[in-house]
Amino acid sequence: MAEFIMELNDEQKEVRDWIHGFAADVMRPAAAEWDEREETPWPVIQEAAKIGIYSLDFYAQQYFDPTGLGIPMAMEELFWGDAGTALSIVGTGLAAVGVLANGTEEQIGTWIPQMYGDVNDVKVAAFCSSEPDAGSDVASMRTRAVYDEAKDEWVLNGTKTWATNGGIANVHVVVAVVDPELGSKGHASFIIPPNTPGLSQGQKFQKHGIRASHTAEVVLDNVRVPGSCLLGGKEKLDERLARARERAKAGGGERVKNAAMATFEASRPAVGAMAVGTARAAYEEALEYAKTREQFGRPIIDNQGVAFQLADMRTSIDAARLLVWRASWMAVNGKPFTAAEGSQSKLFASETAKKVTGQAIQILGGNGFTREYPVERMHRDAAIYTIFEGTSEIQRLVIARTLAGMPIR
Ligand SMILES: Cc1cc2nc3c(=O)[nH]c(=O)nc-3n(C[C@H](O)[C@H](O)[C@H](O)COP(=O)(O)OP(=O)(O)OC[C@H]3O[C@@H](n4cnc5c(N)ncnc54)[C@H](O)[C@@H]3O)c2cc1C
Repeated sequence: MAEFIMELNDEQKEVRDWIHGFAADVMRPAAAEWDEREETPWPVIQEAAKIGIYSLDFYAQQYFDPTGLGIPMAMEELFWGDAGTALSIVGTGLAAVGVLANGTEEQIGTWIPQMYGDVNDVKVAAFCSSEPDAGSDVASMRTRAVYDEAKDEWVLNGTKTWATNGGIANVHVVVAVVDPELGSKGHASFIIPPNTPGLSQGQKFQKHGIRASHTAEVVLDNVRVPGSCLLGGKEKLDERLARARERAKAGGGERVKNAAMATFEASRPAVGAMAVGTARAAYEEALEYAKTREQFGRPIIDNQGVAFQLADMRTSIDAARLLVWRASWMAVNGKPFTAAEGSQSKLFASETAKKVTGQAIQILGGNGFTREYPVERMHRDAAIYTIFEGTSEIQRLVIARTLAGMPIR
């Protein structure tokens, strides 16, 4: 097991500086424009693909870094650049991880390359779990997948919502109910290949923040996919369902719940790192402004009221990063999350980003309230972190129930 180290090594620093360069030179200058256009920044994704930041290889390298710091470092720099554009770049990774976690080697080899496309024809992918009546309460999902044995096909019907890249994705990964009696243990994930009839985009949402990231409903109307599109395959699913039915009969189920929990705990620090990136960006803007803006004949940072705010902002950001790095190191090294450390990191970092970006607006005064300065956009962007991948309330619920030794529903 790798030691928990609180400093990037030379190689990681080199990668960090490389991503930072892309974030500063390509993402930042284009951020306001794509935010206003509320459109996927395809040219920026293509630039990222050209230098290798938008690729499975890059993602996998960071993901398997034994120190656990690869993904948080990459996320922090990209989201420092611009949250909306960064989500357009890393959104495909959510779907790719869904396939990496549950797919067979053949499925991984077939579908992940199609999710990214190639440098001259970049593609994106979508992960579709949330539904209009199943947000925090994933178990109440209604999208159904029924097996047509005669044709070895699955038929999917239902409506997904809030899907990042939904409808514009080349490949959609859709979570659906295969056994309604088993709650969340009766769910399975499916690949919906490009141009499959019956899949269409519903409403595209006009959002408060991360407006460059496309978010939409995905409607599945008698979508037929080959049996090979069930992630993990039918045999594995049948075994899993049989075990879940046995446990349900015996009144158990704890082990399955804990396995699902471990997956969530492992992915939450990445969202925490995104929040740290946005928070740091706003803090840096505020610090610079406070040092140069003069009122009453001196820089406003000379006032304790302003300086102490900056001190608190920096302290919270550093604390958030440490929680994120700890949880990420634990996930990569298989350490058990006995105090829901993944949820802790996401909770603290996302609340920090919301608070710090608000403080940045205050420090910039009237300018902070305008779209002439980026902190206004960063504040709108930061609001997402306390909502997606489990709201702050759900993180608190998970932490509290873990501490109490209670099952997490
Ligand atoms: C921009 C954006 C992108 C997204 N991308 C994706 C994606 O790519 N794929 C995907 O599948 N989903 C995605 N989501 C969905 C996201 O994960 C959900 O919005 C989130 O899980 C919350 O669900 P909800 O919106 O239905 O809120 P609800 O679950 O209805 O919650 C509403 C409020 O009630 C609170 N609440 C609910 N239950 C409890 C409880 N038990 N105790 C205390 N408080 C509670 C919540 O914390 C929240 O404050 C995205 C959402 C957004 C906004």
